[in-house]
Amino acid sequence: AAKDGGRGRFHFYSNDLHSAAEERSQLERDLREAISEGQLELHYQPVVQTATERIAGFEALLRWKHPQHGYISPAKFIPIAEDTGLIQAIGEWAIRTACHDLASWPKSIRCAVNVSPLQFSNEQLPTIITSALAQAGVAPTRLELEITESVFLNDDEGTDAMFAALSGIGVRLALDDFGTGYSSLGYLKTAPFNKIKIDQSFVRGATVPGSRNGAIIASITSLAQELGMDTTAEGVETLDELDLVRMHGCSHIQGYIYEKPLNKAEATKRLETGLTAIARGPKSARAPR
Ligand code: C2E
Ligand code: MG
Ligand code: MG
Ligand code: MG
Repeated sequence: AAKDGGRGRFHFYSNDLHSAAEERSQLERDLREAISEGQLELHYQPVVQTATERIAGFEALLRWKHPQHGYISPAKFIPIAEDTGLIQAIGEWAIRTACHDLASWPKSIRCAVNVSPLQFSNEQLPTIITSALAQAGVAPTRLELEITESVFLNDDEGTDAMFAALSGIGVRLALDDFGTGYSSLGYLKTAPFNKIKIDQSFVRGATVPGSRNGAIIASITSLAQELGMDTTAEGVETLDELDLVRMHGCSHIQGYIYEKPLNKAEATKRLETGLTAIARGPKSARAPR
């Protein structure tokens, strides 16, 4: 019986492997058509200025509305896009769409777009950005590019040249998921970042007694301040986390405590109505969420 059970499990296991590979190559085929079929969307998560509790801008987050499977997470399809090279076309679509949507919002509102390391090493990137901004009639300072530490893995002249070109255009640069990569401080010296985004893994659990995360958040924030950079705390979900990142001086806050990523119509509406007042004021005066 043990043998049968073992064989049975093995059988299932190999079936799962087979279907995982199948599923992936099917998704790969489907992804090729996602842009032309209009299945990609950008959703916009508010980024809140700590001092005023007003929306400073949005982070654009890709969503794929698959005709059979519904919404597919970028965590699942961005790696496929990167492996197949489709990331170049998808990334360009995201930049153009974000610029188009920015044009409909007040000039004080910024929008951040995530840029894959593979886009960052594409010499065409500055041209694509310049053209997207010009076509939409949007000022470069309203567009922020989010880049992860992994762009520094190929530490070559291309990286420096790309930073110089992007700075020349006048777009803002944010260092995304800070603290999760190899986090050398060396590149903060030279790379022209305007903002450091503190990864949500530091925010999560930071309020647990004895956690070292609070000390890490405080150090990143004061380092950023010394260097003249903003900081966004990512993934703030609870009032305790909100109090903590405020106390440690993060200039901006992003997370479900304020808002999840919204579709464009909802994001536009939120600019008109403002955030719900729930997080405002001292802790004791807040209504429960
Ligand atoms: P990211 O750039 O670090 O984006 C933040 C992620 O955290 C988003 O997940 C967002 O929905 C999620 N998030 C925000 N607030 C909270 C919170 O309070 N709690 C929790 N648990 N999560 C929160 P999402 O939208 O699933 O995106 C995942 C990743 O996919 C992004 O991480 C980014 O690396 C990548 N991605 C998304 N859009 C694009 C894109 O247009 N281009 C590229 N290259 N990558 C993208
Ligand atoms: Mg990001
Ligand atoms: Mg991030
Ligand atoms: Mg991330």
